[in-house]
Amino acid sequence: MSNSPLVNCTMISPNKNTPRDHTIDTITIHCVVGQLSAEGIGNCFTSPSVQASCNYGIGTDGRIVLCVEEKDRSWCSSNAANDNRAVTIECASDTTHPYAINDKVYKSLINLCVDICRRNGIKALKWKADKSLIGQADKQNMTVHRWFANKACPGDYIYNRLGQIASEVNARLGNNASTVHTSITGTAEATVVQMRAYIKKKNPKVAQSVLKMIPLYISEGTAEGIRGDVAFAQSCLETGNFTFKGSAVTLDQNNFCGMGVTANGMKGNSFKDPKTGIRAQIQHLKAYASTQPITQKCVDPRYQYVQKGCAPYVEWLGIQENPQGRGWAAGARYGEKILDILGAITSIQVSGQASSAAGSGEDFSFKIKTVKKGENGNHVLLVQEILRSREIKGKDGKDLKLDKDCGANTIYAIKQYQKAREKAAPGICGGVDGVAGEKTLRDMIAL
Ligand SMILES: [Zn+2]
Repeated sequence: MSNSPLVNCTMISPNKNTPRDHTIDTITIHCVVGQLSAEGIGNCFTSPSVQASCNYGIGTDGRIVLCVEEKDRSWCSSNAANDNRAVTIECASDTTHPYAINDKVYKSLINLCVDICRRNGIKALKWKADKSLIGQADKQNMTVHRWFANKACPGDYIYNRLGQIASEVNARLGNNASTVHTSITGTAEATVVQMRAYIKKKNPKVAQSVLKMIPLYISEGTAEGIRGDVAFAQSCLETGNFTFKGSAVTLDQNNFCGMGVTANGMKGNSFKDPKTGIRAQIQHLKAYASTQPITQKCVDPRYQYVQKGCAPYVEWLGIQENPQGRGWAAGARYGEKILDILGAITSIQVSGQASSAAGSGEDFSFKIKTVKKGENGNHVLLVQEILRSREIKGKDGKDLKLDKDCGANTIYAIKQYQKAREKAAPGICGGVDGVAGEKTLRDMIAL
């Protein structure tokens, strides 16, 4: 389950149940009773004592805050069953009846509802103002707080416009309403083993350097909140499965996505090493997928040319399929071609057989195996590779050695990683202990 690529800031609330116990099939719009900024709404829910939260908040300037991830149940509508199935949205509003929202909030609300429907396979919003239909999402999939508690929420201004909101959202969903779109943001589904197995099958002569760099797609993607497996599938498409046959670029350019090849015969950009090339590709994908700034130093020479957030879905990377006529490439079905490759990668069964096909002498699959003091092996190597790619140094201030040994430098780097991540999302690594256990590994590898 993904979150909206439209969010401008993230302020995760402790007030939630993880995970929600029902698939998302409903949207509940609330008014926050105050013309607050996105951060202001986020701030309302950061204390455990308020015992309240929402999935998203829309500030008075139209900016969106993520307070509770979609995979989790927010505490918003005074009703557990509703909040387990609904995405809840708090909107900045006036403090008095009819609790009006401004045009920026309204526009942002429509965009957010369209996105929620697309990613969650909701074909259309249905509003009948009929409380007796609670729980029957096939008949009515918008609900209001006032049905569950003695409250005015969402205020008459919004309440009287719910039908209009539904029809505007449904018009935008259009004929493709039944299609679930694939977000470019989020965590990878394919593993390194699957990606290696795929490319070896498609291109048996693939360079060792390519096999070696594949974990970088995952680590660089994780650093920016972009699906590294989407980027890898795109590279397979752009480079002819790394044969570079018929491609404008060559392997030594470390350009695996046709970056800068804007016309036939152009050679395209070059990067100093595979890490920089993959980082630039991830950053360029993020420019298309999200309005969020990039977290690492920009190495994408074309970052400035992208209208940020114009293609949040893989399907929209193709200019012909993008509703705004923007995108990465002009060829028909560009995004769907990437998804075809991605589907082939994720359907590869990873067994002992697949591991050896992936060119590793021993099992290199991402089974969760704790990396702690004194451990030795490929599971340690993987953590070292990821930490190095994130430029997290050892205790000695140097790049981690890829020695497969979990010594003082590796433990120190794991701690530095955990510190940074726990600060951004408390609990995500299960603490700062220098042990890469299940939580830390999942976060690192984006399993
Ligand atoms: Zn409410």
